[in-house]
Amino acid sequence: MPTRSITKVEDMRAFAREARAHGKSLGLVPTMGALHEGHLSLVRHARRQCDVVVVSIYVNPTQFGPSEDFTRYPRDLEKDFGTLRSFNVDAVFAPPDAEMYPEAYQTFVEPGEIAAGFEGALRPGHFRGVATVVLKLFNSVRPDIAYFGQKDFQQVQVIRRLAEDLNLEVRVVICPIVRDSDGLALSSRNAYLSAEDRQAARALAASLRHAQELVHAGETETAKLLEEISKRLGAEPRVQIDYLAIVGPARLQPVERVTAGSVALGAVRLGPIRLIDNLIFGPPGASPELLLQLALTAQPEVDTRSKFPGLETEALRSKIENCRECAAISSIMLPPREFLPKYLKRDYPDLNSVRTVIVGRDSPIKPENFLYRHPGITNRFVNGLYELVGVKDFNEFKTRFALTDAVRCHGAADHIAEKALEYCAKHLREELKFFPNLESIVVMGGDAYLQFQRFVLGRDPAQIRPFEDLLRPQGWAQEACPVPLLDERTLKILYCYHPTYGYKRSPSIAAQLGL
Ligand code: AMP
Repeated sequence: MPTRSITKVEDMRAFAREARAHGKSLGLVPTMGALHEGHLSLVRHARRQCDVVVVSIYVNPTQFGPSEDFTRYPRDLEKDFGTLRSFNVDAVFAPPDAEMYPEAYQTFVEPGEIAAGFEGALRPGHFRGVATVVLKLFNSVRPDIAYFGQKDFQQVQVIRRLAEDLNLEVRVVICPIVRDSDGLALSSRNAYLSAEDRQAARALAASLRHAQELVHAGETETAKLLEEISKRLGAEPRVQIDYLAIVGPARLQPVERVTAGSVALGAVRLGPIRLIDNLIFGPPGASPELLLQLALTAQPEVDTRSKFPGLETEALRSKIENCRECAAISSIMLPPREFLPKYLKRDYPDLNSVRTVIVGRDSPIKPENFLYRHPGITNRFVNGLYELVGVKDFNEFKTRFALTDAVRCHGAADHIAEKALEYCAKHLREELKFFPNLESIVVMGGDAYLQFQRFVLGRDPAQIRPFEDLLRPQGWAQEACPVPLLDERTLKILYCYHPTYGYKRSPSIAAQLGL
């Protein structure tokens, strides 16, 4: 689908309404344009987590003070649009000022204490403008998830409070800071730094990193750490410090000692350009995502890798249940199956935990046998399945495995129409994408094998080895291959006999799955 360019709130609403009506999850990335990799990291997260992605580009006049750089702020809508098109963004919302603030406009959102210090103190009215425009964007798009960068840490907390305090139905996801190779946090304003100032700007991130090293070496007293940061910055005469502080993450109040999740906030000026940066303290080697978790533990949940059961899964569930392609084919029994997305919310609160998806299900047209419908069930299929992957029961199974099928709406006849197969495969591919940490796929049985080879790995049917051949002599086979739909990530694929069909059985493959 081509990227839509939208300038009117009314059109934005209609677009979002349409997406929602199709059961799609919607992600919004608010920006002021002049896009760089920092913005694009938010777009990538949104693309991975949501069916429909909207990026707003709006340089919001109400968040700039009278002496600030509103008129000089970099703008290149055409270039940004081209970039977003290459990221398959569904719509770019770039309203003109008259659309956002028509003449009679007079309502503003006033954030509380969290907005008082730091940026709020130096830029009076800034967060009032930010909160107002963000709420207006939320109301125009009504996203399920909105993406913001840790780069603007205070802004993150202002927006999380806004969402919480005003009962907004949006999930706020925070993504880590993207930096240049020398550590400088990317910012649209960096483009305006002179060559000398650009060089000097490195001192900000470098001084924060130095503080982090000191903390890892055992120094936790903030007075000492701030002194060290100032010393480093002071060595760079072009840099003027606006503020430096080490604060608790929730209320941004200064702390005497650093603990996991404390944040160093810094703002400096280099000539006419202001730069801000921050660093979350935590254990050595902690990932940026973990550090964010430490700082924002109070909720909402912000693991940027996680998927949210109940948003996209809900969309796929309704897509499968209403699959017109199958409904149109008379040999298909509808609705004979229960589908994995129906149960994801209940059984997989954290989709990150699933490492292996098993493709191939119990015998068709017997809802009373469906594992997810009756988690305690034991029968030939379930016993065979547990033995194959080396777990004792459903509770253990669901800690790392998910079970699905290549062919959903099994036909009454042996032959399943090609078109239906294709659609089933499409749903299977969408299910696999739910699990960000997928390492292996186990394919059980000859039918699932054929389906998987053709529609997931994209292989030519003429080139596919006969199943029996492949499994000889040990009763299972394995390959490592890049999976086209999963960003070409290499997964381990294991092929086994189906535990119910036929006479042959595969031995346990638990060892191959690293158990
Ligand atoms: P802006 O266009 O400056 O308003 O930024 C739009 C969004 O991108 C905000 O949520 C910022 O926090 C985020 N952002 C800006 N720079 C970065 C960066 N270097 N890394 C991560 N996110 C960023």
